[in-house]
Amino acid sequence: MTLIVREPAGFRRACDDARAKGQRVGLVPTMGALHAGHLSLVDEAQRRADFVALTLFVNPLQFAEGEDLGRYPRTFERDLEECRARNVDLVFSPEPASMYPPAFQTTVVVGEVTQPLEGKFRPTHFDGVTTVVTKLFNLTGPSVALFGRKDYQQWKTLARLARDLDMPVEVVGCPIVREEDGLALSSRNRYLSAAERERALAIVAGLRAAHDVWTNGERDPEALRLLAEEPVRSRFDRVDYVAAVDPETLGPPEAGPSRLLIAAAAHLGNTRLIDNVVLGEDRRP
Ligand code: AMP
Repeated sequence: MTLIVREPAGFRRACDDARAKGQRVGLVPTMGALHAGHLSLVDEAQRRADFVALTLFVNPLQFAEGEDLGRYPRTFERDLEECRARNVDLVFSPEPASMYPPAFQTTVVVGEVTQPLEGKFRPTHFDGVTTVVTKLFNLTGPSVALFGRKDYQQWKTLARLARDLDMPVEVVGCPIVREEDGLALSSRNRYLSAAERERALAIVAGLRAAHDVWTNGERDPEALRLLAEEPVRSRFDRVDYVAAVDPETLGPPEAGPSRLLIAAAAHLGNTRLIDNVVLGEDRRP
């Protein structure tokens, strides 16, 4: 049975009850519009925990002025069906006003790891993410929390947050789930027109090109970056970045690295897509 709660107090109580029964609680935070990528996090949570809580909350704090908060897809009833079908134990779907009442005035800020890549283009984004996830951790008391490596920097930021503040939760990053043709699943893919959907594949083509030459022995980060960038530059309307960075610090890579993160963010019309691959670790996308 899937229990659905709208208020933070009720969510906390349901998680407390589970823990009181000796259950390990697993948390899957999402903004809804669930797809197979989100559901892979649920599967992993069910492997690692006895009681799985999924949150559906389009967190206004992590959107800047001019981003897609207003048109972000909201498919609540379908999301609930997915959760019921998967036997998710608890769904928390609060209103913004119950998460951020009028006197709310606290922000959780993580340092260097939030600065490059997304941080350059969405300077307030991670403060919104770390603040809401801290609240969710405090409400839930999870033993484990599951995030997708699709949002690689978010995963690293939240792992840093938990370690730095001694939060008793294991922050797990799960592999990227892709469409048959390689496009990473994203709630934002539904914004794409048919023509844009076709052009979106350039981001995967770039990651594949880098992966292929890495497999053949190329280790120069800038050469790999340029290969990944080329199709994105030619097919997307605007490129925020295609970067080659150290997968742990997200800073400059070492020379001749054993692993290298290639991460990209680019726009097709009004839609911003991100994707990445860790060379030396991930399968060919
Ligand atoms: P969102 O609803 O977009 O905030 O995503 C909620 C969680 O699902 C985040 O941890 C994302 O990284 C993860 N996620 C989104 N898309 C994918 C995907 N294609 N594969 C794996 N995880 C994903």
